[in-house]
Amino acid sequence: MKEFGKDRMKEGEVYKEERRDILRRYEITDWRSIFTEKYGDRFLEYRRLWELANKAAILASYPLEISFEISDRCNYRCSFCPRNSEFKRALNFELGKENVSLPFAAYKEVIDDGKRNNLFSVSFSTGAEALIEKDLPKFIEYARTNDVVDIRVTTNGFMLNEENIRILVDGGATFIGISIDAYRPETYKLLRKHDLQRIVNNVMNLVEYKRTKGSLFPITRVSFVKTKENIGEMQDFLDFWKDKADIIDFQDLYTYEYCAIEKARENKFFCAQPWQRANVWADGKVSLCCSWTAQKEAVGSIYEYSMKEIWNSAKATAFRESLTGKNYLEACLWCVASSEKIAD
Ligand code: SF4
Repeated sequence: MKEFGKDRMKEGEVYKEERRDILRRYEITDWRSIFTEKYGDRFLEYRRLWELANKAAILASYPLEISFEISDRCNYRCSFCPRNSEFKRALNFELGKENVSLPFAAYKEVIDDGKRNNLFSVSFSTGAEALIEKDLPKFIEYARTNDVVDIRVTTNGFMLNEENIRILVDGGATFIGISIDAYRPETYKLLRKHDLQRIVNNVMNLVEYKRTKGSLFPITRVSFVKTKENIGEMQDFLDFWKDKADIIDFQDLYTYEYCAIEKARENKFFCAQPWQRANVWADGKVSLCCSWTAQKEAVGSIYEYSMKEIWNSAKATAFRESLTGKNYLEACLWCVASSEKIAD
């Protein structure tokens, strides 16, 4: 069987191909050099600490990245999304939080604390659709003017209109991830229930706007989670996006039905997210990763403690010890990080 990506990719088209457990990444652009040119040693230090934390070899005194769920709303209802109430009911994970937004004042306090503690990265990606939040420009601007070097936004691309493109490019976002998952419009409609051409046009407009402004930011990633419906479209997806996006990610599909607890116990998996990042949910709860299941094991709330106190608290230590001691909490047992791959 021919190996996907190899036969039709010409030398020089890809800066780097990287394979991790669940991810195959094509880096068309050397994004690390672009960041280093702009942020110098501070960016290099951030990446050095990130890689060490990725092996749990260090625990920095503050999260390297904080992800914010600035709104608990999404304009899509994708079949495979954990927001889908069937998933939550099946796993008894109803969280009782809906249509909640994180107030800017609360976010500002976290960023102020982050500035005092050398916060490197913020991400607006967890749980819902970041572009829905009308205050997003304010959130980005405040991070940018308070020494954050990496400002990341993930979106389904539907609302990536001209105004939002200007906000992201001119406002200082450094990374945008657009989850697409299909090459054929019929497949996109099946998986995401919307019009693929609209998303393609939006991403092309973003690329063109960056070009006209002479901006290399935000580094633009398109992603594709492999399912049985789209598995035959990977090469076409790669060929289409390789001269438009900076990074193309193909990710294995994991589903919650494969997160059987006994299987997870046998797997004896490890996850380093609690050494790298914290996640602030729209209701102010803090978990030590971006998995929605971790809301059940929140280690604090920004309405009660500072992020520094939460990150270094006894609860946070116990959470990390549950992973190093392989004495997994329910959040981890039901998380996709513990599950088996089902598509190839
Ligand atoms: S819930 Fe998942 S992502 Fe979070 S720490 Fe546990 S295994 Fe890692």
